[in-house]
Amino acid sequence: MGQREQMQKALKEQFGHESFRPGQQEIIEHVLSGRDTFVLMPTGGGKSLTYQLPALLLPGLTIVISPLIALMHDQVDRLRANGIAATFVNSSLTAEERARRERDAANGKVKLLYVAPERLVTGNFLFLLDEVENNVGLSLIAVDEAHCVSEWGHDFRPEYRQLGLVRSRYPQVPMMALTATATERVREDILTQLRLRDPHVHIASFNRPNLRYEVREKSSGKNTTKELINLLRELDGQSVIIYCFSRKSVENLSLVLQQNGISAQPYHAGMTSEQRTENQEKFIRDDVSVLVATIAFGMGIGKPDVRAVIHYDMPRNLEGYYQESGRAGRDGLPAKCIVFYNPGDRVKLGFLIDQKVDEQEQMIARQQLQQIAAYCETTECRRKVLLAYFGEQLQETCDNCDNCHREMVLEDRTKEAIKLLFTIGKTQQRFGLRHVIDVLRGANTQKIRDSQHDLLPIYGYGKELSVDEWMRIGRALIHQGLLDMTNDGYSVPRLNALSIEVIRKQRTVEIPTPVKVAPAKPEKEQKAVGRISPIDLIPDEPGTGELFDHLRKLRKRIADAQGVAPYVIFPDTSLRAMAKLRPQTQEQFARIPGVGSSKLSLYFMPFTEEIALFCEQRGLKMGIELPQAPKPEPTEKREVAPRASITPSSQITRAFYVQGLTIEEIAEKRGMARSTVLSHITELLEAGERLNIERIVPAERFQKIEDVIREVGDERLKPIKEVLGDEYSYDEIRLVRAALKVSI
Ligand code: ADP
Ligand code: ZN
Repeated sequence: MGQREQMQKALKEQFGHESFRPGQQEIIEHVLSGRDTFVLMPTGGGKSLTYQLPALLLPGLTIVISPLIALMHDQVDRLRANGIAATFVNSSLTAEERARRERDAANGKVKLLYVAPERLVTGNFLFLLDEVENNVGLSLIAVDEAHCVSEWGHDFRPEYRQLGLVRSRYPQVPMMALTATATERVREDILTQLRLRDPHVHIASFNRPNLRYEVREKSSGKNTTKELINLLRELDGQSVIIYCFSRKSVENLSLVLQQNGISAQPYHAGMTSEQRTENQEKFIRDDVSVLVATIAFGMGIGKPDVRAVIHYDMPRNLEGYYQESGRAGRDGLPAKCIVFYNPGDRVKLGFLIDQKVDEQEQMIARQQLQQIAAYCETTECRRKVLLAYFGEQLQETCDNCDNCHREMVLEDRTKEAIKLLFTIGKTQQRFGLRHVIDVLRGANTQKIRDSQHDLLPIYGYGKELSVDEWMRIGRALIHQGLLDMTNDGYSVPRLNALSIEVIRKQRTVEIPTPVKVAPAKPEKEQKAVGRISPIDLIPDEPGTGELFDHLRKLRKRIADAQGVAPYVIFPDTSLRAMAKLRPQTQEQFARIPGVGSSKLSLYFMPFTEEIALFCEQRGLKMGIELPQAPKPEPTEKREVAPRASITPSSQITRAFYVQGLTIEEIAEKRGMARSTVLSHITELLEAGERLNIERIVPAERFQKIEDVIREVGDERLKPIKEVLGDEYSYDEIRLVRAALKVSI
């Protein structure tokens, strides 16, 4: 078997995936060739597979360095659920247990060993590695969350600095660094600190098409909590993370949510680590649906089915926002990233920044604040703004953010623009936009009194608009190049040649303004985005949603019995596929994404039985086939002809028939008359099933019957039979008639 075939086989059998995600195959090939690699992929991109799969194909042991116990635990649980020999050693284990696991590693009983960086560089552990190297060989050293090595990253871990030592000690072992952090500075740090040698560098797009970005207004006059509660109710018990700025607001908000019947738990640094672990664990195990956390809440969440990440307070900076919001929708299914933005927060944060003593620090903080505020306030595609921060340019608008869905009209705002630009000129272009607006609106601030701007003739000439509206006009002028902004962290507006043209009335100003309409229609949000699998193309049959809920409950029971998180048993994507396709045979079950050989044998029985029970009670169809080619066409066609429902008995016949049994064999197996079995097949065909009936009616007979049907019509059987004569039976005619209906 060639290498590619081996990879493909391991992908399906060990991990249950049908095909590689973009980049995975190429990365794995480089790793298998023994080259160092550096993988930059957004969260949920599928980084883990790029070292886990090579670990299985390479002869010796793969060491994975991971910064958090929770992460290690999670990964190992998932690998073991797939029947892969993986384990971890860390401080949560007793000395005996640790020793036992280390023995297993040295004796080649384990393929992947997860370890924390501080343990890796201890004398004892290095000694173990020497032993491994001598016995079974070290295949690969993978450094997960590699940005922890950099002080410029958001999660600096000093212990990561020592990992370079391991590279020097085992120079022949290929090394891999993986991260979802995109900034240039951090990238360089990783390459140098870990001493990667001529690495293959894979940089994936940071676009996460399945995430829907949205910013909602949060002003004091508005009942934002109520809006949040409604939002959570719409999400109907699915997993949500809410971020707040302070511990106090975390406490308050989770209490309010609980009082409103939402199962929410707090998570912040003021709690004991036991309390935190407990709440996190409940969240991971789907015992609570909402976790309300401060930003500090670490990286330890690999939960793939978080359906929304909500920032109830303004995020601190764009990089952080990208990481935090990125915890939504790792499984590739649609998820929401929502910020509740109060322009007043910006002022508050600006004030805090002013208190900083270190000037450099102050400047960085100011720039960061400006960037995140620009994201919140933009009327452009939010995804464009976010990706631009990482140096990535999105060509088209995304069609999956609030701005792309909002209708805009262009309003002539020349008059207001002149006032604003004029005031900037009159205040010597030395003040921030906010001060300029205060002057226009005739505010009574210390700054205005100090600068005597209340004596200007323009003072108080712009009371007709609110601060927010003036801000919007100011920002639009900057976006359109009609006004410059200094880039020194102080953001002082400066007039340019075009500003002068506006003031002289040589140029008009049109500003996009959102049309005040109801929020985007929910159906639009349901649109499949991101990775589309052939399963998504099958329309939902009646009962699919309910069956999904049943399967979730079953998954939870199994997970609790095993003491693992439900997604370790199966991700939502698998359950959705099961609810749609309703597999009944081993073959069908194996085709469900996420079902590898280990899960096939473990879970075939409980899940198919649950499905059969549910479907039989309701007389629903099972064993639905996946369309062969993932072309969007079938959806449309199938929807045209509404399907008759199929009896469970026909379902069983169908299952035997597609396994290749003859009509006689099925009749015998089921203790039924041959004609009953044939009537099942007819029923299936009439319901739109594309069964091949050549095994029952050979091609030339089919042709003959078809010819006659075309001649005399298909309303009644008798005339057809009369033309065909005794050689042909009613059963055959019925079958052909039904089959012809399917293909029309
Ligand atoms: P990352 O580490 O990049 O955040 P993970 O490795 O945790 O991402 O993968 C995210 C999710 O995608 C996991 O649930 C994983 O099972 C799934 N996944 C990874 N590779 C594939 C693939 N080739 N096909 C389908 N699902 C995949
Ligand atoms: Zn957009």
